[in-house]
Amino acid sequence: MQSWTSISKDAWLERLAQLAKRVGIHLGTLRERDARDFELVLASAVLFFPPDQLLTERDANARLKDFLASAGIMLSTDHVELRRVLADSGFIHRSDRGSAYRRGTLPDWLVPAAEHLTAAQLRDEVQSARTGHAEARAARKQAWLAQETASIETIEGAPPPIEGPDDETYMRLALDQAHNGWALSEVPVGAVLVKDGQVLATGFNQPIGNADPTAHAEMQAIRAAAELLGNYRLNHCTLYVTLEPCAMCAGAIQHARIARVVYGAPDPKTGACGSVIDLFAEPRLNHHTQVRRGVMADACGRVLSEFFAARRELQRAGSLPADTEEAD
Ligand code: ZN
Repeated sequence: MQSWTSISKDAWLERLAQLAKRVGIHLGTLRERDARDFELVLASAVLFFPPDQLLTERDANARLKDFLASAGIMLSTDHVELRRVLADSGFIHRSDRGSAYRRGTLPDWLVPAAEHLTAAQLRDEVQSARTGHAEARAARKQAWLAQETASIETIEGAPPPIEGPDDETYMRLALDQAHNGWALSEVPVGAVLVKDGQVLATGFNQPIGNADPTAHAEMQAIRAAAELLGNYRLNHCTLYVTLEPCAMCAGAIQHARIARVVYGAPDPKTGACGSVIDLFAEPRLNHHTQVRRGVMADACGRVLSEFFAARRELQRAGSLPADTEEAD
């Protein structure tokens, strides 16, 4: 059913590790958004079944539970649904009497690598990806706390100027984040939160993968920064985002007391910083965040128009289902 080039063992592990940094991935969403990832994940589950061996339902369930607790930890499903999806798509076969299972047929592009991969390798790879992630996070928190303690006296005080000397630099980082979103087939919008010249947190748009309508780039960065600081107020921070924030994000920015917002491209459909409405110019809303518009607007807009053009191309070729929506 597909003519994809075979994947190497290393590429398989790398992709699985990348997926494992996310949480709450739904199988249905995965199938819809990226058939390759969907097949790779299902095939990873199959590797938890020993080759050429018939398993009782109980044993099959135990192995799928083991997968879901380790290499498949990022999935939001249970062993029953997973077993059904695996059987429906031929990845595992059910015996005629319906009470035993064995490995089925893997897609051609995964077969060569599957021969050299074991469940233990998948488990280790995912575990180290997730530990690495958590360690990097803890290290950032430590570094930040040390710096925060040292400089707490000096950073309170005057509001930041409307134009920062490093606005373009940080916007470039936000653009990198947008590309991370693209890599996961999400509408590419990226954000970076900066305090006193330090990047506190980054985020990119991922409502589809997270099955979370609030997972806009700004919200992701705000959540991560608040968690890092252990504080729901993000005083004296600047938020850089490649696309004009929507009403939800503008609200969150105000609740977080973010001092300054710098954005790239305007969003004529849902922009709440002047394009549709301007929530930051509303005197009845208490907090006043400074807004700088149009920093690297062309580059920020281009990544979006290129993404949608590429997606329409895939849809024309029948590789992607047609859209019902195109908004961020
Ligand atoms: Zn938003």
